[in-house]
Amino acid sequence: MANASAAHTSLEETGRSYAPHEAVIEASRCLMCDDPPCNTGCPAGVDVRRFIRKIRFGNHRGAVRLIREANIMVGICGRVCPQEMLCMEHCTRTNLDTPIDIAGLQRFAGDIELASLAPLPDPAGGRRERVAIIGAGPAGLGAAVELRKRGIGVTIFEKSDVMGGVLTRGIPPFRLDQTFAVEELSYVQRLGAEVELEQTASEPAELLKGGFSAVFVGIGLGRPYTIGLDGEELPGVYVASDLLTGITKKVRPDLGSRVVVIGGGNVAMDAAMAALRLGAERVDLCCLESYEEMPAFRSEIEEVQSEGIAFHTRTRPVRIVADGDKVVGYEGVGIRWREAGSLAPSNAIDVPGTEFGLAADSIIEAIGTGVLDRFEGVETDGRGVVITDPETMATSLPGVFAGGDVVSGGATAVRAYAEGKKAAEGIVAFLDSRGTEGGGR
Ligand SMILES: Cc1cc2nc3c(=O)[nH]c(=O)nc-3n(C[C@H](O)[C@H](O)[C@H](O)COP(=O)(O)OP(=O)(O)OC[C@H]3O[C@@H](n4cnc5c(N)ncnc54)[C@H](O)[C@@H]3O)c2cc1C
Ligand code: SF4
Repeated sequence: MANASAAHTSLEETGRSYAPHEAVIEASRCLMCDDPPCNTGCPAGVDVRRFIRKIRFGNHRGAVRLIREANIMVGICGRVCPQEMLCMEHCTRTNLDTPIDIAGLQRFAGDIELASLAPLPDPAGGRRERVAIIGAGPAGLGAAVELRKRGIGVTIFEKSDVMGGVLTRGIPPFRLDQTFAVEELSYVQRLGAEVELEQTASEPAELLKGGFSAVFVGIGLGRPYTIGLDGEELPGVYVASDLLTGITKKVRPDLGSRVVVIGGGNVAMDAAMAALRLGAERVDLCCLESYEEMPAFRSEIEEVQSEGIAFHTRTRPVRIVADGDKVVGYEGVGIRWREAGSLAPSNAIDVPGTEFGLAADSIIEAIGTGVLDRFEGVETDGRGVVITDPETMATSLPGVFAGGDVVSGGATAVRAYAEGKKAAEGIVAFLDSRGTEGGGR
């Protein structure tokens, strides 16, 4: 019955970095391919082959500098990137034995840098323009770094008390240590970006009127969906993203010994692993999708499985069972899809005779997140996702650009960062096209 083990009782970061000699051995397995597939797999444009080569020959600082030219999230991406579906996916070495552990090598490089605190390159100076960035998540930081490198002034407005977005206020500490993340991301301040924490930004149109030459919107997704079951208001029912944000702020709720998590994405996986670490003896994960259909990264699903969490795939929630105001159970039923190709709840049909019940002290809902804020003049689709020109990331409001989850509807940290970089290119082109018209703030 119990699926907790001693290994899963700590919320501290797990995994360890290579020692320098181990990193050199791993880097030496790289085939140094011509036209390497690892390079094309990185959305942020990291030259993977070259950084591995630098580690191989002991130039660890050089490796860090090279990665950082493309992506300041060196050790962060080494920890959280789903590299098995990015740079490592087509690694040629797989044909011989196993792919190069690019994630591990990048984590090693990030740790070396933080330990050594190497001096920074001076950003170019001399431009008068200042750009407002709304949100200090990976997208906003990607835009900020690229703009600072061109000498453009940047003010980042962040409504939370810390930079990093989901990296520091969502991903639980056992996967990414927040202190490490904040320190690595502080590079953006060392490059001269102003960061205003606990500042909810005004409307982009107001910021433009207030003297900013352009605005980048990188607000991510901030509105978790709920299922709408009776009993959701009970104290034992949690929204996963709130629970995970609380954990990053050292809130440690007592979830009881039996926990049910509803959802098949990364947030559900993190919530299930967090529940074990908060003391649950058994965690059941129930989701609409089959194992193959689950949207979570494969590596996360495998990690959750290895921790003994029980999966109830192709099921939907029916009822929260309560005794007074205390949650005591969960009821679900097996489903099949009415039409192939759509994984929406409205496409699910109950399969008679597959009803089931689980004991539960707490239930955690992790069924997706939508856009929280909409801005005047910035066109969105029906779900509130911002519509942009895919080449420049320009929105429908002139001078306003957007990127990251608020545009993709939810993807990865590295993709958000890459979109921030792309938007910075769009912003520079926009400012250049305005010539001397573009005033400074
Ligand atoms: C629990 C969880 C686990 C995840 N795990 C992974 C993983 O392992 N690997 C991975 O690659 N991706 C993962 N993701 C996805 C990844 O974190 C996101 O794709 C990425 O953070 C998106 O970056 P962003 O900058 O677009 O948005 P966010 O990271 O959401 O940042 C947006 C920022 O904008 C701020 N903001 C919002 N509105 C305003 C406003 N009006 N004024 C000022 N500031 C504002 C927010 O406070 C926030 O800091 C995970 C997501 C979640 C929720
Ligand atoms: S594809 Fe693999 S083996 Fe080839 S250069 Fe990249 S990491 Fe090395």
